[in-house]
Amino acid sequence: MQGEAGAQTARWLLFHAREQGFFSSAVLGKKEWERVLLEQGFAEEEEGVRARYGLDEAGAMLVVALRYAPDVEPEPAAARAARGLPPLPLPGAGKPVAKIGRFARGNWYGEIGSRLAACAAATSGDMAAAGLPLFSPKRWQRFSNSRFPEKALAVAAGLGAVGRNGLLIAEASDAGPVQDSAAGSASRAATRSSAVLLGLMLLPFDLEEALIPPRRPPRTALSFCGSCRRCVDACPTAALHCAPEPVFERDRCIQYYSSRAGALPAFIEVSWQDQLYGCDLCLEACPYFRPDPDARAGRGQIGGSFDAATIARMENAQLRILLKGSVLDQKWIEPEALRRNAALALRKR
Ligand code: SF4
Ligand code: SF4
Repeated sequence: MQGEAGAQTARWLLFHAREQGFFSSAVLGKKEWERVLLEQGFAEEEEGVRARYGLDEAGAMLVVALRYAPDVEPEPAAARAARGLPPLPLPGAGKPVAKIGRFARGNWYGEIGSRLAACAAATSGDMAAAGLPLFSPKRWQRFSNSRFPEKALAVAAGLGAVGRNGLLIAEASDAGPVQDSAAGSASRAATRSSAVLLGLMLLPFDLEEALIPPRRPPRTALSFCGSCRRCVDACPTAALHCAPEPVFERDRCIQYYSSRAGALPAFIEVSWQDQLYGCDLCLEACPYFRPDPDARAGRGQIGGSFDAATIARMENAQLRILLKGSVLDQKWIEPEALRRNAALALRKR
C-alpha cells in the first residue's frame, strides 16, 4: 500500500486498535519485523514455519498490548450448563484453594484475537469505503500466546521495555509524545503497566516505514526499573537476579513447572504455595502491575481459584472438559500437572 492511501490505512488501523481498548499498539513494516525474527532466530527454530504462517505473503504487522483485569468473576453454573460444560469447582469457605494466575482467569488471549478481528473488519470497511482494495478476512492473520517472539516485536514496535522480571512493561499509546519525558516521574509511570498480554496481526499488505505513524523508539531492557528489585526479592525460587540485563532462569520458575507433569525439583516443591496454574508473585510485587479494573473477557471466565481437593481427584478427561475454552485449555498443559499442583496446595495448607 503506497502513498496517502497507505498512510491513511495505517492511521485507521491504529485508531481502531485504540477503539478496541488496546492499551498500546504500533505498526511495524515487513522489513522491520523480519529483522526482529531473524535476530531472534525465529525462522530457524522450526522447519516450514515461514510457510505455515504465510510469512512470505504477509505485509506489515500490528503489535498490540491488552491490559487484563485484576480478577474475573467465574462464569455462573447455568451459563456453563447451557454450553454443555460442568460447573466450576469453586472453593467453599475455609477450604483449601488452588489458585489461577491473574492472566489466566479469563481467556484474554481469545479476547485479543476477537478484538484484532474487529480491528481488521473496521479497517477493511474504511478501505472499502475509500475505494481501496479488499482482502479476504483470512489474510489478516492474528496471533497471541504464539511462537512468535512477541516480546521482542513489542519492544521493536516501541510498546515498552522488558523489566527485571523478564516481562514487558507496556506504555500506553495515548501517554503522549514519542519523545521521553522525565523518566521515572510519577505521571509518566502511571501510564505504564506490566499487567498486559501481547498480540500480533499480520496484514495482507505492507506499509513503508515512511507511511507509518511515528513509533516510540525501542527501549532498552530495565529502562523503567531503575534501582527497583522488588520482583527479585518476591521470587521464592531465586529465578530472577539483579544484573545489567534481565536474568530469568526458566527452570527455577514455578509458572514454568505448573503446566508440566512429573516430579518437581526439591527446591521448587518446597517453595510451592497454592498455585494451580501460573505464579503471580513477581508480577504482583511490581510497582507497574496495573491491571485494568474495567477490562472484560468475553470467554473462558474461570475465576481465580478452585477447590483444591476436587481438582486433585479429577480424571484427565474431566479436567479437559472443565477447562474447555479457558486459557488452561491447551494441549501442552498436562492434566497430571494440574492434579499434582492441587495436591501440593492441599499439603501446603
Ligand atoms: S513467576 Fe513466580 S517463580 Fe517464576 S520468576 Fe516470578 S515469582 Fe519467581
Ligand atoms: S518489580 Fe521493579 S525491578 Fe521488577 S520489573 Fe517491576 S519495576 Fe522492574
